[in-house]
Amino acid sequence: MAFEHVLVVGAGQMGGGIAQVVAASGRRVSLHDAAPGAVERGLASIERSLTKLAEKGGADPSEVLGRIEPVGDLVPADLLIEAVVEDSAVKEEIFRRADEVLPAQAILASNTSSIPITSLGAVTSRPGRVIGMHFFNPVPVLKLVEVIRGLETSDETARGIIELAIDLGKTPAEARDLPGFVSNRILMPFINEAAYALLEGVAGAEAIDTIARLGFAHPLGPLALADLIGLDTCVAIMDVLHQGLGDQKYAPCPLLRQYVQAGRLGRKTGRGFYDYPSA
Ligand code: NAD
Repeated sequence: MAFEHVLVVGAGQMGGGIAQVVAASGRRVSLHDAAPGAVERGLASIERSLTKLAEKGGADPSEVLGRIEPVGDLVPADLLIEAVVEDSAVKEEIFRRADEVLPAQAILASNTSSIPITSLGAVTSRPGRVIGMHFFNPVPVLKLVEVIRGLETSDETARGIIELAIDLGKTPAEARDLPGFVSNRILMPFINEAAYALLEGVAGAEAIDTIARLGFAHPLGPLALADLIGLDTCVAIMDVLHQGLGDQKYAPCPLLRQYVQAGRLGRKTGRGFYDYPSA
């Protein structure tokens, strides 16, 4: 499967990064977002990232950008990679519409952090061609792609997506379609516990992050990482773990929820656990 033309839906931090790495691999990308101005912001961020990479010997930014075409709606393509907000109703609606718009042989992939791939497949007429293709943030830098098969996903679909991930310079790792897959089953309770440590006054945010960085050799502490991911996304993932696994230990920390209620979503809004004045 060559996937010569890829439709990326959602031009936020993940969709922009995915469009960038797919275009950098020589493929044609159509980029769509429902929010006014989101595709333009996504393209500006891709250009900044490509310019930085070009200084270190990366591809010519204008050549890569020239392969990304903004589109006002879903368009036919060989592959959909969906990267919209972590909300199952919104994602299911996109999968329903993509099933109508994309050719029958096209694969529909989701970059979801936690929403069951089996449910996304079930709203389409092609559950064998629906799969999770979970990139990591920042997409141009981090090498992992977690590949998640829904109950009905075919071997051929999984093989095609694994080969594509390798062709994009990534390392695929397969996980089963259980809440949070592997990555967020482990990462989110860690972040949630750090939020509880802050809420209970065990330590301040900087001390918590310093302990994780220097004590566990993590490049970012859990609170700084939560700000990078987006606190809205973290709460949405914890809700899926809590509901899907039915254990109280996965309930989102009230402080995380309160920050989201206040619009403190992390880097993308300029404020989360920390302040980001230039965002
Ligand atoms: P984001 O908030 O930066 O971007 C989401 C984008 O989706 C926004 O631009 C929004 O306008 C758009 N959108 C919402 N509804 C839409 C619709 N109906 N049609 C088209 N566009 C729509 O979020 P993000 O961090 O890029 O996360 C996107 C997805 O990637 C989520 O499923 C998230 O769980 C997953 N993910 C996030 C990270 C991370 O670190 N942030 C890592 C891996 C996976």
